Amino acid sequence: YAAKSSRSGIEIYRPEMSERLLRRAQLASRLQHALDEGALELYYQPQVTVADGTLVGAEALLRWHDPVLGQVSPDEFIPLAEHRGLIGAVGQWVAAQACRQLHHWESAGRALPGQLAINISPRQLDDPQFAEQLLELVRQAGVLPGKIDLELTESGIMIDPESSLSILQKLKDAGFSLSLDDFGMGYSSLAHLRGFPLDKIKLDRSFVLGMLEQPHDYAIVVATIAMAQSLGLRMVAEGVESALQVDALKRLGCSHAQGYFYGVPLPAEQFAEQWLNT
Ligand code: C2E
Ligand code: MG
Ligand code: MG
Ligand code: MG
Repeated sequence: YAAKSSRSGIEIYRPEMSERLLRRAQLASRLQHALDEGALELYYQPQVTVADGTLVGAEALLRWHDPVLGQVSPDEFIPLAEHRGLIGAVGQWVAAQACRQLHHWESAGRALPGQLAINISPRQLDDPQFAEQLLELVRQAGVLPGKIDLELTESGIMIDPESSLSILQKLKDAGFSLSLDDFGMGYSSLAHLRGFPLDKIKLDRSFVLGMLEQPHDYAIVVATIAMAQSLGLRMVAEGVESALQVDALKRLGCSHAQGYFYGVPLPAEQFAEQWLNT
């Protein structure tokens, strides 16, 4: 990866470029090991009612601790997994682990109230077997599809809206619930949204972050709450970090929330300690 110094001076050495390439190559080769060696872990973040902070479910968030590279953020390795064709295997692991955990909590007398949400990458929908495989996996784990909420992004389902619709309808019919993640950040039109069998909208945290300072962010929060209500969808405000935001969301009639104010993502054991009754 050493830079070639050219006599003509045309090739310009840019250390940040080769560092990035080196990092990507390392990550890609380590990710396969991570899958094989059990270096992946799910953390759990509570979802609550805005009215009184009652637990209504959790979101499973993937963590990767590599012995060599250290902690790697999903914002970095999920796109890489998608690019390298590993997202199918990663997604299967996440779904299986989520089911094992639900089952474990249940048999320990600490059942999770509501649903466990898992994130689905748009690339997983490319696999024609995706819906069947997920259903089979959940069935074999002895978990009811109704306990699982599938989070998809707007941009994700809009890559191929027709094919997404048929897959999502199949999953919906099987009993899964469907959430639109990071709402407001994608490029979907409301006409498209109308056609999808959704249960929840998760308003992207950037709007919640700015809602008390930026009139436009506030307006979008207000409008999204109203839209969710009139479409009969549950609305989850993401990234809630302060009591002032909670007050405002309560006043505006937002039903559900998730964010550091209520709880950070935790390993299964600690999540149960803090949130699940014995
Ligand atoms: P996401 O699905 O929108 O998840 C929410 C992200 O916001 C999480 O970041 C969470 O830790 C963070 N968050 C929650 N509350 C707050 C808050 O109050 N303030 C701030 N600043 N952040 C908050 P995380 O865990 O780093 O995940 C990042 C993204 O990686 C996720 O965004 C999701 O798109 C993706 N991801 C995570 N796990 C999986 C997975 O199992 N499969 C797939 N396909 N993607 C995943
Ligand atoms: Mg999510
Ligand atoms: Mg989100
Ligand atoms: Mg996100």
